[in-house]
Formats: sequence, C-alpha cells, structure tokens
Amino acid sequence: MPAKNLKFKAQTQKILHLVTHSLYSNSDIFLRELISNASDAIDKVRFESLTQPDILEGNSEWKIKIVADKENNTLTLSDNGIGMNEEEVIENLGTIAKSGTETFLEMAKQNGDKSNPELIGQFGVGFYSAFMVTDKITVRTRKAGDKDAGVLWECTGEEDFSIETITKESRGTDIILHMNEDSKDYLEEWKIREIVKKYSDYIEFPVTMDIERSETPMDKDGKPVEGAEPVKTIEEETLNSKKAIWLRDKTGVTDQEYEEFYKHISHDFSKPLTHVHYSVEGTTEFTALIYIPSVQPFNLFMKEAPKNNIHLYVKRVFILKESEAILPEYLRFISGVVDSSDLPLNVSREHLQEHRVLKTIRKNLISKVLSTLKDLKEKEYTKYKEFYSQFGTILKEGVYSDYDRKASLLELLLFQTTKTTDGESKTLDQYISDMAEDQKEIYYIPGESVKDVERASHLEIFKEKNYEVLYFVEPIDEIMIQNVIDYKEKKFKSILKGDIELGEKDESKTKEVNEKFKTFNDFIKGSLEEHIKEVRISDRLTKSACCLIGDEHDMSAHLQKIMKAYNKDTPESKRIMEINPDHQLIEKMKGLFETNKDEPRLKDYAELLYDQALIAEGSKIPDPVQFNERLSNLMLQV
Ligand code: ADP
Repeated sequence: MPAKNLKFKAQTQKILHLVTHSLYSNSDIFLRELISNASDAIDKVRFESLTQPDILEGNSEWKIKIVADKENNTLTLSDNGIGMNEEEVIENLGTIAKSGTETFLEMAKQNGDKSNPELIGQFGVGFYSAFMVTDKITVRTRKAGDKDAGVLWECTGEEDFSIETITKESRGTDIILHMNEDSKDYLEEWKIREIVKKYSDYIEFPVTMDIERSETPMDKDGKPVEGAEPVKTIEEETLNSKKAIWLRDKTGVTDQEYEEFYKHISHDFSKPLTHVHYSVEGTTEFTALIYIPSVQPFNLFMKEAPKNNIHLYVKRVFILKESEAILPEYLRFISGVVDSSDLPLNVSREHLQEHRVLKTIRKNLISKVLSTLKDLKEKEYTKYKEFYSQFGTILKEGVYSDYDRKASLLELLLFQTTKTTDGESKTLDQYISDMAEDQKEIYYIPGESVKDVERASHLEIFKEKNYEVLYFVEPIDEIMIQNVIDYKEKKFKSILKGDIELGEKDESKTKEVNEKFKTFNDFIKGSLEEHIKEVRISDRLTKSACCLIGDEHDMSAHLQKIMKAYNKDTPESKRIMEINPDHQLIEKMKGLFETNKDEPRLKDYAELLYDQALIAEGSKIPDPVQFNERLSNLMLQV
C-alpha cells in the first residue's frame, strides 16, 4: 500500500509547536519519555500474555534497545512491547485526544509561548518531546498478534505525517530519531549512559546498547603487538540497574531517584511534594510507594479529570492502573505503585477489582494518604498549606462522599474565619480550642467570597459576643456540609438559617417585644409577600436594621445560586426577614405605621428595607429601576 499523508488536528499542531519551542530548557527528558513508553508497551504485552500466551510468539526476552548510528545520524529505540496497528498509530501519535485540550491551549496562550514546561508535562505529551531533538521521526511498529501488517509512520513535526503498511519482522516498536543539528551529542555513548542512569535506572526491563570497543592485540607478555590493527568488538550492555524502586530498601534510595520515578509514572514535570514508601505484612502483604504531587493538574476538576494514578503490580508484573478499586475518586491526585504477592495473576481485571485482598489494600492506602497529610499538617505546616492551596477543595469532595472517613477528612480542612487575617486560615481543632466558653456550636457563614461575607449584618451579634464564625466561601463548602452534622460533638450551624441561640434569653422580654411588633411585622410581611414568608424580631442584629435568613431546612440563597449556575432545578424558597427592634429606622417606620396605617410611603419603605438587606449580603435586587425611583423619592422629601 502506498504511503498516505494525513494532517494533524489543529490542536495537536499547536501542542506540537509549544512542545518543540518551550521545553528546550531540558531536552534530555525526551529519552526518559520514550523509554517510559517502551516500558509501558512491554507491561501491556506481558499482561495480555498472562491469559493469551500465544501472543508472544516465543519472544519474551523483554528489552528496550538503543542504537546510536553516527553515520546516518539516527538514534533508534526498539522495544518488543505490545506495538500498535494503523488505527492505534493514528489515534496515539496523530492526535492529542486528552480532555481539556482547549483549556490547556487557552492557558498556554495567556502565558505566551513561554508557557511553563510543568504544564506541558502534565498534559502527557511524552512522545512529542522527541521533536525537540529531531528533524524527523520514523516509527516502525507491529502489534502483538498481527503477524503480517506492520505500520510505518513518519513526521517532521510540521502539520502532517505519513503512514504506510510495511512488513516488520518482529512484534513491537522502533522509534527512529533523525537527530537535528544541535542534538548530535545524544549519539554519544557517554551521554546516553548518563541520561539512562539518571532518569531510567529503575525501569524494570533492560535498557541496552551495543558498545563498541577497539582493542589492540597484546602479546603473551602483555605488550601491544607491533603493527597489528586494533580489533573491534561489539558487546550489548545493559545500562540500567533494573531494580524496581519500590522493592528496594528505602534507606538506599536517593531523593533524586524517588523524584525521577515519580516523573516516570505521573508524567508530571514538577517535583512531588512528598512520598511515602512502606510495606505491610500480615494476612495481606504488599509494598507501596505513593506520591503527593505539589501542583494541581489543570484538569483536576474537569468532567474527564484524571483518575488516580496508582499502578498495581502483582509480584512485579504490572496489572492495572487508574482504578477506583485502588483509591476513591477524591484521592485522584495521588500517584504511586502498589505491589502485592497476594493477588492472583491470571484472572480478569474485572474479577481482580472485586478481590478481597484489593479491598484491604485500598483501605490501607486511603488511611496512609490521610495520615500522611495529617502528619504534614502537624509537623510541616507551611508545606501543608502549600498542599492545601492546590488540593484542599478535593478533600471536601471526600467529606461529602466518604462517610467512614468524614472525621479524618474534616480534621484536614482549613478555613478563614472572622478572626483570621491576611488570608491566614485555621483548622477545626484550632477553632474548637479557641471557642468562647459559653459557645456550643461551630458557626459558619456561606457566601461567594470573604469580601462578601465579612461585612454581612448577620455577623453583628457574633462579633459582639466574640464568637468566631467560619467563612464558607468555596462553592463546595455548602454542598459538603449537607452530609455533615458535627465535628468532635460540636454541631455545625449556618448563621444564615433558623434560630440562633446565643446564651440565655430573657423570655418575658422577647414575648413583650414580639407582642409590640405583631401588627407592624404583619404589615411588612403583607407588603413584601411576593419575596418573603415571615417577618420576625432578630437575635442576630446589633447595628443593621434588618437581614434575610433561611428556615433551618431550606436551601440557602447561596446554594441556590450555585445550583442555578450548574443549571440544576432548585426549589425557590422564600426567606424570612429579621428586623432589629432597636434600630432607629425600624422605630421610625413603626411610629409612622402607628400614626397612620394607610400611609402610602410605608409600602415603599418596606421594599427599600428588603432591597437594602439584599445589597448588604451581596445579592442582586429584583428591580433596580424601582429601587432608584424609591430612593430618589425619599431624598426629595429631605
Ligand atoms: P502518554 O505516554 O502520556 O500516553 P505519549 O504521547 O508519550 O503519551 O504517547 C501516546 C501513546 O502512544 C501512548 O499512550 C501509547 O499508547 C502509544 N505509544 C507510544 N510509544 C509507544 C511504544 N513504544 N509502543 C506502543 N505504544 C506506544
């Protein structure tokens, strides 16, 4: 079949351009990425062969071979992994089909072309990084099991690539790099050795290279034979130590090695924040190496967010990754390896995911992640805050969804409050230990931003009583709290809802005030019937004239806004207006009302009162034109 030319999708072209022009700071990594891909490909065929041994065609001497050809100026990486058929070549090398491509490009555009490599790395463009060092890449590949049809793919890194059917003698993939003018160093033995040692030492398959030696023949006394030509020998040498890093004794593993391994499995170019390397013995035995990243992947909260990146091995054989059977969704930012000898090798993935041993491992891993975070919080708070700024929100997903670990997750949260300053925050434990003596509940105020909520009139009585109030200013806060009743036996209480019981109440006085205001309150309620369901005397206000609150079980105004933003149907519930009986404005209105119940201005004042309450809490007023009219009329009377 003749070669055909295909164009890259526009997005892929843009990414390619970014990769080749922005990653220059460290082009060495192209080799790490290609070796990683080759190693993944071998993992895959090895896994397939557990249930279909024929697929190997007798070739199971796993190997990744590097050949540097200075004459032809090419560097070739060959593997005997799973290989690709034509469709897969087009899919894998001709598109970057990851979710969030648009967003990524938009972000890159905003940063200018010098978009930081971390971002590009996160995007998983490993293969394309080879365009940094080449003028052209040729791929020859044959899929395991497809005996006759190999594929040749060729591309210069511009807008198109060619594809052709070929015969290839063995399964697997050859990546032939035609090195560019600036990258000839990569054909040198020392350079290749150095990079493999530095970045790919832990790869469990041998990464080999033909090493050419020339030796002058010696005589029996060990002296060079006069006039004899040097003899050339070629020997295939393995360049990496192949030790699975997670099975090594951790005292012997350097930070650099841990870091490089992280980059290998996560495709994240930034350093991990921390890692935990441990073994469990007993009825279920396994070893785990898990990493907490330092930077949030840009698509963490998108629909097709990355799944967790735990690779499961059984006795060093890679089995599966990214499975919810290993970690729950809210820990999807974790990367790592788990290796167990207690799982059966030759069962289907589906059965494996249901396996009792995997359930035990999952439980243990979750506890380990949470206890690591707790330790970080207690011992390295600055580092913890760094973590929290990137991944705090996602822990709240866990509070909502993981009933059994709610308390451990709540313990990890940080909040800004009425008493913190300069963007500082505190834990719930700190909040409780700072609680006023007579305070019984954990108070919070939901809203859009700290700026919005810190001025809310609802806070007045809390400030006066010196009670601290947590700011719930992330959209997820209010959703999370729907599944939470209390923390360390202290109930959570929204200060925008229901009754607030602050200390002792003078019942007889309350009764008296209520009586006095009854007809006036009924009048306001009547005037504002389309907006509110009740008017009552407030316990929360000391300075403002009025505020709006919800019934204990109503959805809060803020949550209604969030749900609307997500196009979710929400029941609109009318709110309650609370008034401050001691406020001058209320006294004046009440006076006016008592002198003449039919005073026409009173209805306007009631509307103004309502609009004011909305403005104060940062909500939109229903009719700004009418509001202006009413206000102007009022001013004209002065
Ligand atoms: P990533 O490795 O992050 O998925 P890459 O751009 O490096 O992204 O590779 C894209 C895909 O191409 C891989 O996911 C894999 O399916 C395929 N691929 C790359 N190299 C090989 C190889 N040596 N053998 C088989 N498949 C490969």
